Amino acid sequence: MLVDRKRLGQDMMNMLGPEKVLTEDLDLLYYSYDSSFHARNHRFMPDVVVTPRSTEEVSRVMAYAYTHGIPVTPRGAGTGETCGAVPVQGGIVMDLSTWKTIEEVDTANMQVIVRPGVVHSELNKELGKHGLFFPPDPGSTRMCTIGGMIANNSSGLRAVKYGTTEQYVLGLEVVLPDGRIITTGGLKSRAVKNVSGLNLTKLFVGSEGTLGVITKARLRVWPKPKARGILMAVFPKLEDAPAAVLEVYQDGILPSGIEILDESAIRAVNMYKPEINLPNAQAILLFEVDGNPASVEYEGNRIAEIVKSRASQVEWSTEPKRMAELWEGRGVVATAAARVRPDGSRVFAGEDISVPLNKVAETLRAIRSLGDQYGVQVVNYGHIGDGNVHTAPVIDPENPAEVEKANRLADAIHRLAIELGGTTTGEHGVGHVRAQYAPLEHGEAVQVMARIKQALDPKGIMNPQKVFLMQGGLDSVS
Ligand SMILES: Cc1cc2nc3c(=O)[nH]c(=O)nc-3n(C[C@H](O)[C@H](O)[C@H](O)COP(=O)(O)OP(=O)(O)OC[C@H]3O[C@@H](n4cnc5c(N)ncnc54)[C@H](O)[C@@H]3O)c2cc1C
Repeated sequence: MLVDRKRLGQDMMNMLGPEKVLTEDLDLLYYSYDSSFHARNHRFMPDVVVTPRSTEEVSRVMAYAYTHGIPVTPRGAGTGETCGAVPVQGGIVMDLSTWKTIEEVDTANMQVIVRPGVVHSELNKELGKHGLFFPPDPGSTRMCTIGGMIANNSSGLRAVKYGTTEQYVLGLEVVLPDGRIITTGGLKSRAVKNVSGLNLTKLFVGSEGTLGVITKARLRVWPKPKARGILMAVFPKLEDAPAAVLEVYQDGILPSGIEILDESAIRAVNMYKPEINLPNAQAILLFEVDGNPASVEYEGNRIAEIVKSRASQVEWSTEPKRMAELWEGRGVVATAAARVRPDGSRVFAGEDISVPLNKVAETLRAIRSLGDQYGVQVVNYGHIGDGNVHTAPVIDPENPAEVEKANRLADAIHRLAIELGGTTTGEHGVGHVRAQYAPLEHGEAVQVMARIKQALDPKGIMNPQKVFLMQGGLDSVS
């Protein structure tokens, strides 16, 4: 960094006004972590925090940072689980969460134009007034920003039918590391199809703030489904759960969500709220179906017929109160996980691997053995429809020996996912904590990623040490 901290703070205040700049230690401390387990155990302090509210302000900050070689870490709501929004090399944290404008709901063209700080649930509240919705749906909906979702290519339990954020991003405005402003997806375009030019929109979706700052997004939105139903099926044998999911697909049905709770999750839910009283079994599946009332009714009944040969218990409902009851176990499982030991907390480590559907049962059994091997209790649940397994290790996070065990377990879980033909992350992204697995997961392709990074960010100032490790230029990429 070519300027000292005091001058950096002063220059930012001169540029943006004092109300958009934070320099006090206590404020900076708040920006030294996100929701990740890693950030709980390490401190990554910024030198200054800025909260720009226009593209020009972002551009000016980036041009300054570029000239002086200062790292910049964009940040939405900080709900990321991978140390993505923390300044590993200090410098400037650019908090975009205060820039919350929904600029336009273009109902005629089924799209919406937003600034990066719009919170996901707020966007859907606004779209709901027009009978529309933005389908990707992370569990952090009430906190996370659209900018963070695009940067992480977020998704959630309905990704099985609706896909991930990337499918809905039609175009972006991005400020590049040197301050230049570009528009992807066509300057004036309101088209929903576009095959013109290299697909720069896709390049920035999921780039986790390593290539530029997303300052505006043109998103595709969909009609809101009119009806919904939930089916719960109980499986005495774990292997029958993925087999049943496959049979449902083979019948031509695509539910909006298919969730699994394994034995460990069923136990945790029953300990947390005994009145939910989930049946003891090796697995419970919850199918959510949405669409028009007649098709929902047909698909729910058809799924019940398909799964009943394998399941010991099946129940289907479209009645709101009963649906809520059937869903309750899934709804509380993340909180319930910690109950498996009285002094334990659930930590986010190795938490969102994704594996092929035909490897889900093997993965769940292997995670249980790894838990036994490392002496850590793990609760498993997830979006089985797309092979996304959530593992929740439960430890005493104040005990360094247990923290060490959890880290070793998470490492083993990440490697297991790659070995089984899956990925270290189906949802939460790579950030800092998974950057070390990039060569194992991508091989030579990491060098290509590094060259793209170098072309856009030759000084390496944009969210350094994220996605892949690049300590001293291209040769050192790992
Ligand atoms: C309880 C809980 C449940 C969750 N459930 C899910 C889930 O179901 N699915 C899922 O995918 N994730 C989930 N997450 C993880 C996280 O909430 C999402 O990935 C979310 O989209 C991140 O948004 P954010 O605004 O908090 O981003 P942050 O955490 O602030 O940032 C995430 C990354 O995006 C970059 N970034 C942020 N804004 C911009 C921008 N404008 N331009 C460029 N880069 C930017 C940051 O540098 C960082 O690398 C969950 C987290 C929690 C705490």
